[in-house]
Amino acid sequence: MENVVIIGSGPAGLTAAIYTARASLSPIVYEGAMPGGQLIVSFEVENFPGFPEPQHGATLMQNIKKQAEKFGTKFKLEDVQKIEKINDYFEITSPSGTIQSKTIIAATGATARRLNIPSEDKFYGRGVSGCATCDGAFFRDKEVLVIGGGNTAMEDANFLTRFARKVTIVHRRDYLRAAPAEVEKVKNNPKVEWLIPYVVDEILGDQSVTGAILKNRETGQTLQVNCDGIFVAIGHEPQTSLFENLVDLDEDNFIITKAKSTATKTHGLFAAGDVMDPIYKQAVTAAGTGCMAAIDAQKYIEKTNHNS
Ligand code: NDP
Repeated sequence: MENVVIIGSGPAGLTAAIYTARASLSPIVYEGAMPGGQLIVSFEVENFPGFPEPQHGATLMQNIKKQAEKFGTKFKLEDVQKIEKINDYFEITSPSGTIQSKTIIAATGATARRLNIPSEDKFYGRGVSGCATCDGAFFRDKEVLVIGGGNTAMEDANFLTRFARKVTIVHRRDYLRAAPAEVEKVKNNPKVEWLIPYVVDEILGDQSVTGAILKNRETGQTLQVNCDGIFVAIGHEPQTSLFENLVDLDEDNFIITKAKSTATKTHGLFAAGDVMDPIYKQAVTAAGTGCMAAIDAQKYIEKTNHNS
């Protein structure tokens, strides 16, 4: 019987691992298909406290993992397939078998949202991408669109100007969710242009993307633009499917936790990071709720006299 199983290896999961490992609870982390979470594709992280210089997301995550390993966390490089609550413990099934644990910390994060138009599927990986850091270098001296008005879109647009000749941000309304500092950087970048208020109606191409038809949301008029790539940066969906029978979800599919706590409606199941945070969604707040979940799990084990 394990004490703590952590599902997810972004800032929330790994911070929960550091805290539970330091509390001698020997946590197991299922790293999942994308170890390190969303930060792994962040080219420069400028707002993680303690690092005055920008950090490469992958390096930051490797260092947090090293810290968790140092205190005795065990890692499994696989996805969890099923979780069942049996009496006062959980059974966790993955390709390598089934283990039992007194508590679970759900830190599965969120994945990139898609435009959900048929031509997006057709050209995904052939000019359409959800990851500027991964695919940006393929667009040297090309023209690309970035869809979205949040921090990811701003960061992607700036990053893509390292390679692309021209980057056009396409956003559906006047208001930008992105932080003013991020918007300012983009506005000062001479390679970036804006198309507002537009949405993508259709992606055009043959073997790969050659352009897009955009629709003006105010006038309904369409506009055809030429481009070689389209980076979709329109937010993320919380990854909750594993926990659906064990938790309550809000209208946007985020796990609901009890006030001032990471506890869910199932005793022994705690949630941390982007899977339960519809508001802040920052690496540092994910780490913060990961810490909270670790402390909540530790207290739960102590209170229920579970500690072996
Ligand atoms: P956000 O949810 O912040 O922004 C998503 C953007 O996509 C919005 O502009 C939204 O428009 C638009 N959008 C959503 N759905 C569609 C659609 N179907 N068609 C067209 N446009 C759409 O997501 P991000 O990924 O940008 O950021 C997620 C979180 O991560 C945020 O909290 C952000 O602050 C954080 N982050 C922080 C970074 C940093 O601090 N360095 C870097 C990157 C992200 P609308 O506004 O109209 O809804």
